[in-house]
Amino acid sequence: MDECIFCKIAQGDMPADTVYQDERVTAFRDVSPQAKTHVLVIPNVHYDSLNEASADESDLLAHTLRICAMVARDEGIDESGYRMLTNIGEEGGQSVAHLHFHVMGGQELTGKLA
Ligand code: 5GP
Ligand code: ZN
Repeated sequence: MDECIFCKIAQGDMPADTVYQDERVTAFRDVSPQAKTHVLVIPNVHYDSLNEASADESDLLAHTLRICAMVARDEGIDESGYRMLTNIGEEGGQSVAHLHFHVMGGQELTGKLA
């Protein structure tokens, strides 16, 4: 997707504070962190949201979730606890239409929503 900022980040065409990248996923710090630790984990290929990542993408989705857990470990928040979530669509509060998982922690998280 030409105009998608997260595609550009995954392709290295837009700067980001990247903490991990492989051929399938990229993890980078959220530009406007909602917690002390706030990393976004995205598949490098474009899906608007979880709705578009079909059953065919189960390997990619599993890998993405594993990388979320790895990032939490690398950030030192796996033992203290963290939250991982994905917002989907307008009423879900999604503002960037490229599937991404928030990994948030490093502090007590209040409430149950991001
Ligand atoms: P959403 O609201 O779609 O679930 O999450 C989008 C997230 O992307 C927000 O937390 C927002 O701060 C972050 N974000 C938006 N634009 C950029 C950007 O250009 N770079 C980075 N690193 N994060 C961004
Ligand atoms: Zn994209």
